Formats: sequence, structure tokens, C-alpha cells
Amino acid sequence: MPAPVGRFAPSPTGRMHAGNIFAALIAWLIVKSEGGTMVLRVEDLDRDRSKPAFADAVQRDFEALGLTWDAGPFFQRMRNGAYEAAFERIAEAHRVYPCFCTRADLAAASAPHFGDKHVYPGTCARLSAEDADQRRAAGEEAALRVAMPHERISFEDAIQGPYGHWMDVDCGDFILRRKDGAFAYQLAVVVDDAEQGVTSVTRGVDLLSSTPQQIFLQRALGFPEPGYAHVPLLVSESGRRLAKRDADASLDAMLERFGSPAGVVGHIAHVTGLIPEDAPAMPEDLLDGFSLDRLQDQWRSKISIPWT
Ligand code: GLU
Repeated sequence: MPAPVGRFAPSPTGRMHAGNIFAALIAWLIVKSEGGTMVLRVEDLDRDRSKPAFADAVQRDFEALGLTWDAGPFFQRMRNGAYEAAFERIAEAHRVYPCFCTRADLAAASAPHFGDKHVYPGTCARLSAEDADQRRAAGEEAALRVAMPHERISFEDAIQGPYGHWMDVDCGDFILRRKDGAFAYQLAVVVDDAEQGVTSVTRGVDLLSSTPQQIFLQRALGFPEPGYAHVPLLVSESGRRLAKRDADASLDAMLERFGSPAGVVGHIAHVTGLIPEDAPAMPEDLLDGFSLDRLQDQWRSKISIPWT
């Protein structure tokens, strides 16, 4: 087996919080425990929400936390040509149609987190080519959707176990390119994972339901399918997923509370059950005794861990 290639894929829309750090830590441990390498990819596809200052901060934060990378940083905003070429290839093999609907379109450049997966009802799939041409000629802008066949896509998640979707029923036709011309997260992430040689994807379980879409695109493009591991989300007392706006889970607040990067990493490792005591530890210290099998036992079908 060749050594795995993993990735950190932060969106530079704010500072890191405990949940992002936890997912990055597990990604690093899975890959490094097998002698592999990490790629850093800055997911700044959403031009309105991404800020260069956060892209700088995230790199300094990873460095301080001992979450090292071996290639990159790569920036999505510089890769439009690659997404365009992939888009053309998908459009040759599958039906891609213009969609004039408004709502879901706005979200297509960011990763869809739990609860915001909409199954498109197919409104614009039923438009005739003449109607679509007329609306375009009248100046209406269209996003581009790929039609889903009645096909089941399943995979074995290294933590969550078997997972699958009927693509037409559970997923629905999804956006590849937004009205403003920006390529969608689902397409960009598949192109980048393939071109950056990523074989091991570890991320929050909120993206589990995006994985069949990504596998669909990998197959359409003839790309290899990476292995996937989806970790539980850290949630606040109210049960809500930690977000960049949860001040007490922000890295700065944690550095103050735990005194050092090792204090932060050690606390996260303890809260999530990686280590028995709440003691300072850097990622490297956690390699000894790390086992993906144990994580499967602990976290299979578990979707959240309370953050305290
Ligand atoms: N950039 C996404 C996020 O920060 C992660 C996407 C992925 O891991 O595929 O939520």
C-alpha cells in the first residue's frame, strides 16, 4: 500500500475553533500514523466570505498547533481553469441544464453542512430548450445543474460504516456552477482532491451526505476514489454544532484557557476520548498508540460530542 496523502481544507471565513481543530487533528493522525503526507488547501472559493487575513491566520494556527503539512498551500481561487476543464468533461457525459431558481444557488460555493441539504425538485429540468434560451436571451441568469440518474452510490466510511444515496431521490440534481459563474464546492473539492493526489479525506460528519455527490463526480471524471473518514461534530451545550462565532471555542480563547497549543490539543484529545487525562499534548505525542480501529468502535454512528 502506498503511503496515504491527506489534506487540511479550511475555508478562510473566520478563525479556527475546537471543531475544525479536532477534524484536522484526526486527519493528521490517520495519515501520519501510516507514514503519509498532508496537503494544505485553502478553500477560498466563496469570494465574498473568504478573507486573506483568515487564510494567513489559519496557516499560523496550524503551525502553532503542530499540524504540519508537506505540500501547499494551494488556493482554490487560483484554480478556475482546472474546474472549467472538469466541468466541460462532466457536461459531455451527463445532462447539464440551466437552472433559473434562486434559493439554493447562493449556498453552492460553500460546503453544505448538516441540515442544509436540499433535494432539488427538478423545476428547471422540465423547461424546454426553447424556454431556457428565451429566458437567457431576456437577460435572466442561470446556474448549471447536473442531472442525477436513478443510481445508488455507496461507500464504506472508515468511521461511520456503510453509507449510500439513491442519487435521484436522496440527493437530486445539484449545482456545478453558480449564476455568477463561480464553480460549486462539490466540483472544486473533487478536482482538487484528485489533482493534489489526496487518498485520505477526514472531515466532519456534516459532510457525510456530500460524499456520494463527490463520488459521482469522481466517477464521471475517471478519478480515483479516496478513502473517507467522517468524525463526529463538537457541539455546544444547546446541541448546536460549534461555529466560528462560538467565542469560547475559538483558538484564542482556548489558548488563554489552556495556556499553550499543547494545552489546547490535549484538551480536545481528552474531550473526544483520544486520551484518558486532560494533559498537554502535541499531535506528535498522540501518534503513539493511535488506532483508527479504536476510533471506529468509539465513534461509529456517533454524530456529536459535547464540547466542555
Ligand atoms: N472547506 C470545508 C469546510 O471548511 C471543508 C470541505 C471538505 O473537507 O471537503 O467546511
